[in-house]
Amino acid sequence: MKCTNIHRYTNTQELLKNMNNVFVYCEIENTTVAEVSQELLTKGRSLANELGVQLHAVVAGTGIKGHVEAQILPYGVDKLFVFDAEGLFPYTSAPHTDILVNLFTQEKPQICLMGATVIGRDLGPRVSSSLTSGLTADCTQLEIGDYDDKKAGKHYDQLLYQIRPAFGGNIVATIVNPDHRPQMATVRSGVMQKKVLDENYKGETVYPNLAQYVQPESFVVKVLDRHVEEAKHNLKGSPIVVAGGYGVGSKEGFDLLFKLAKELHGEVGASRAAVDAGWVDHDRQIGQTGVTVHPKVYIACGISGQIQHIAGMQDSGIIISINTNPDAPINKIADYVIVGSVEEVVPKLIKYYKNK
Ligand code: FAD
Repeated sequence: MKCTNIHRYTNTQELLKNMNNVFVYCEIENTTVAEVSQELLTKGRSLANELGVQLHAVVAGTGIKGHVEAQILPYGVDKLFVFDAEGLFPYTSAPHTDILVNLFTQEKPQICLMGATVIGRDLGPRVSSSLTSGLTADCTQLEIGDYDDKKAGKHYDQLLYQIRPAFGGNIVATIVNPDHRPQMATVRSGVMQKKVLDENYKGETVYPNLAQYVQPESFVVKVLDRHVEEAKHNLKGSPIVVAGGYGVGSKEGFDLLFKLAKELHGEVGASRAAVDAGWVDHDRQIGQTGVTVHPKVYIACGISGQIQHIAGMQDSGIIISINTNPDAPINKIADYVIVGSVEEVVPKLIKYYKNK
């Protein structure tokens, strides 16, 4: 195949100078668009509104035409680029990197968002280093704001504030990228809230010719087999979370929390200290290096409330803390505090809800 127009990552920032739209890279599993991508489309729409530009999205897969459009456009996407060809699913690094590098060179977006997933963590750095644009990983907030570079005596309008915990979570850093485009950020699943803008949103869909974006040799890696683990629980989507910390004291202590969660039709979460102690599986860890949850009710049992834990649950509706220490930091953000031990309080709650 003869490939013309393909840029092999030789583009400099000169080519990206114009500041256009906001782009979201949409991840897929077969023909299903990932939730994290829909969360980022919602965020991308509000950023685009603030900037007065369009929201664009890109998705690449195999046999996706006709399946993905309705999962993406209603989030307020003005233009959707669908790359549909053999070899684009399952994801491999080189073809997807080629697509984004060449598409961004052509479209010159000012912002690109993608999930801080296994794919996003592979793809984002490849694209940003190819375009020498920089990237902030695992952002917890994204905002638009101005920036004064006092040293250089320069003022910048409407940059992307890429906000994330830094230095072990002890400070919250706001990172800006004044001179390079696109401003790239990854965000973990569950951090942003997804919301359909309009089921009938009229966005344009284009199906570019893959040969103009990807070199044949980029398909050098072939996925021969995949093993996909079924999710064991629905912690992220559960309206009630019973979370345990180091104060739970043992694996048996967690059995109590599972019993309470069962009575409440909720799920069990944990702090990192409880996970590190081996009392509960890592996929139940809530916080900066675990999952982010937004339940209606969050019951924190024996959790002190360090900043890294709070980062993953602070947007819960009602927070109830059960802790022997009345001055535990989590009590400051809790709506209700029960001062007492997990062993004493949780069995009473189980008994109460059993009899309801
Ligand atoms: P502790 O801080 O030890 O608190 C135990 C609490 O239980 C205390 O408040 C105590 O008063 C109470 N207690 C004791 N006995 C009882 C009892 N019998 N009944 C009731 N209460 C009792 N942590 C996370 O949770 N999630 C993360 O994603 C995360 N990421 C991190 C990332 C980095 C880079 C770093 C440096 C740390 C991270 N941490 C994370 C760890 C975090 O800093 C804390 O160490 C951890 O959250 C503490 O867990 P804990 O509250 O269960 O334990």
